[in-house]
Amino acid sequence: MRALVTGGAGFLGSHLCEKLLDKGWEVVCMDNLSTGDLGNIEHLIGRDGFKFVMVDVTDFIHVPGELHRIFHFASPASPIDYLKMPIQTMKVGSLGTHKVLGLARAKGARLLMASTSEVYGDPAVHPQTEDYWGNVNPVGPRGVYDEAKRFSEALVMAYHRYHGVETRIVRIFNTYGPRMRLDDGRALPAFMSQALKGQDITVFGDGSQTRSFCYVNDLIEGIWRLSESDEAMPVNIGNPHEMTIKEFAETVVKLTGSKSSITYHPLPEDDPKQRRPDITRARELLDGWEPQVPLEQGLRTTLEYFQSKLGL
Ligand code: UDP
Repeated sequence: MRALVTGGAGFLGSHLCEKLLDKGWEVVCMDNLSTGDLGNIEHLIGRDGFKFVMVDVTDFIHVPGELHRIFHFASPASPIDYLKMPIQTMKVGSLGTHKVLGLARAKGARLLMASTSEVYGDPAVHPQTEDYWGNVNPVGPRGVYDEAKRFSEALVMAYHRYHGVETRIVRIFNTYGPRMRLDDGRALPAFMSQALKGQDITVFGDGSQTRSFCYVNDLIEGIWRLSESDEAMPVNIGNPHEMTIKEFAETVVKLTGSKSSITYHPLPEDDPKQRRPDITRARELLDGWEPQVPLEQGLRTTLEYFQSKLGL
């Protein structure tokens, strides 16, 4: 089997490339390195069947040879990244998705698109089920990401219904683990690097907003199972263990043994107040898939990664 992974040098993309190689697949990893990092795949370069190509998927993409699967993971994905790159974010979710769908159609490949819990916006339904249509502000700062992903989902379904392309849509909830960028601005890398450097921990708002954090290996296993399933409609993948951001910050401080204090800062515009996946469909459709890694264990592994990145 031969797969293309766009965004393959990113946090999730690189873990996915590795999983596919471990299954004995050939992998073409495509990335423009705007938020991806060659460091995430340097251990894969030289492995049998692995190839890296530096390409922007919003341009015409050409992949010689046969392809059985396409995993479309290219996109800035952290709030500060998509605020910095709003137009690239919209382009990769629209033009980029169009290019990979065209490629899937030409190659007869199955395409799995990385969607997001952000399609639910600041959700009025809790926990979020896949049949909830969401509460998104199209003209707010997060609109560039949320609407690009919503457009991507619509385009994927159009290619599926109109051209009969085999497609899968995964709605990814907050995920953490090794290979997150220390400076990507998300809660976990921010809190861990602040704790390790003895700086103040920056909680936004009063910290009462909730998120549910999934360890990367659990997420990748769910995505793998979804790609091999028959389900074309969106499936949530994430960990339903919900906590407030304040509790999360306290957990990181405790785990690192840091003396950092928690400080409170203005809440970014349109920051969702609550988020927790309803994973009933994933459990039913994906052979009882369920997150396995407890938060503390996942955080320890991530902490070791960040310590080595910081040379500690
Ligand atoms: N957050 C925070 N301090 C930070 C970074 C993030 O309190 O330094 C909050 C953020 O406002 C949000 C939550 O943590 O409520 C999760 O943010 P993240 O950027 O990780 O991802 P999101 O779930 O918002 O996409």
